[in-house]
Amino acid sequence: MTKVYLKKKISRRVENGHPWIFGNEVGTVEGDSAGGSIVDVYTHDKKLLGRGYINLQSQIAVRLLTRDKAETIDDAFFYSRLKEAWTYRQKLGYTENCRLVFGEADYLPALIIDKFNDYFVLQTLALGMDRWKPAIVDALQRIFQPKGIYERNDVPVRELEGLPQQKGFLSAPFDTQIIIQENGLRLHVDLENGQKTGYFLDQHDNRRAIRHIVKDGDVLGAFCYTGSFETHAGFYGARSVLGLDISENAVAQARRNAELNGLGEVCRYEAVNAFDALKQWSKDGRQYDVVMLDPPAFTKSRETIQKAITGYKEINLRGMKLVKKGGFLVTSSCTNLVQPELFLETIHLAAKDARRRLRQVTFQAQASDHPIIDGWENTNYLKFLIVQVL
Ligand code: SAH
Repeated sequence: MTKVYLKKKISRRVENGHPWIFGNEVGTVEGDSAGGSIVDVYTHDKKLLGRGYINLQSQIAVRLLTRDKAETIDDAFFYSRLKEAWTYRQKLGYTENCRLVFGEADYLPALIIDKFNDYFVLQTLALGMDRWKPAIVDALQRIFQPKGIYERNDVPVRELEGLPQQKGFLSAPFDTQIIIQENGLRLHVDLENGQKTGYFLDQHDNRRAIRHIVKDGDVLGAFCYTGSFETHAGFYGARSVLGLDISENAVAQARRNAELNGLGEVCRYEAVNAFDALKQWSKDGRQYDVVMLDPPAFTKSRETIQKAITGYKEINLRGMKLVKKGGFLVTSSCTNLVQPELFLETIHLAAKDARRRLRQVTFQAQASDHPIIDGWENTNYLKFLIVQVL
């Protein structure tokens, strides 16, 4: 087994259990350091820290898979980790759809698996994880006997690992346009061409949180994608719902989702730039009972974090202006570098500029099938806030 000895000075992160070891923390490598191979990682004074996969071509040189000295990394390892991940989700009450594996938080760094009833979508985002794809697929077959498994590795981050972007079947081909059920609704999901893995499961519990506030109201949803929040709003009794997304495809799917739930008259969609619409309509004095904002991540790098904050402030300020006195703003942020406190602070600054007072209804993270590990910033990424706007 290849041995990786760390430098004396390593970050607190590794000591705190985080699985990433950066290239500048690696001292010497003894043995084969070919990308993707399994290595034993030792501290500078030769204490075994754990076992993981190496890729010296990546900034993240090693990602640990285990800190248990007795655990070997083989096909059985992946089978048992997937079993554990499933047991955990079942315990939390997820049966039909869930994020089955949430990478680091399931001690399977760079692996994402979403379960959509009998179908599975998989992403292997690092070379060392990609190598185990056959073992992972085999484990899914054995545990679930799925109707289909699809790979959505059409993700730029793979290139940092020297991996190609690709997508396709990992089982016998099947119709990738499926229907899932969520909170009593039925929704079309396009596993092949939808964004990310096809559907944003991280908000599936949060979508229920709008249940009472949308009743009988006029609702505006910006960055609606396939209209998941908007269909929920219609289902929960909104008088009218208008969803906005820049993607024509997303809006077309959103319309189909409205139809599928008998809400074609209630839920309407426009393919527009939401930044422009929010700006113009707030100037025009349009008013809604509820405004929902769920934009894409504004930055992935620390350098541009200030720009992201300015973006959040801007859209939330516009959003608040569009809310009738006493109505509600439902606002999300999936930028993991914007931590919850900073997001809240930004919303309050926006309220000050908009000259509106806020009352917090709920402030939560992503659904619990995307576990958070304390101190592992990238596991605590979604902010979901509802405020009453006075
Ligand atoms: N609320 C959705 C997820 C939204 S993802 C859900 O729960 O499923 C963010 C969406 O913002 C994407 O669909 C993307 O197409 C859209 N988007 C990105 N830039 C936009 C813009 N300038 N105007 C409108 N929509 C935009």
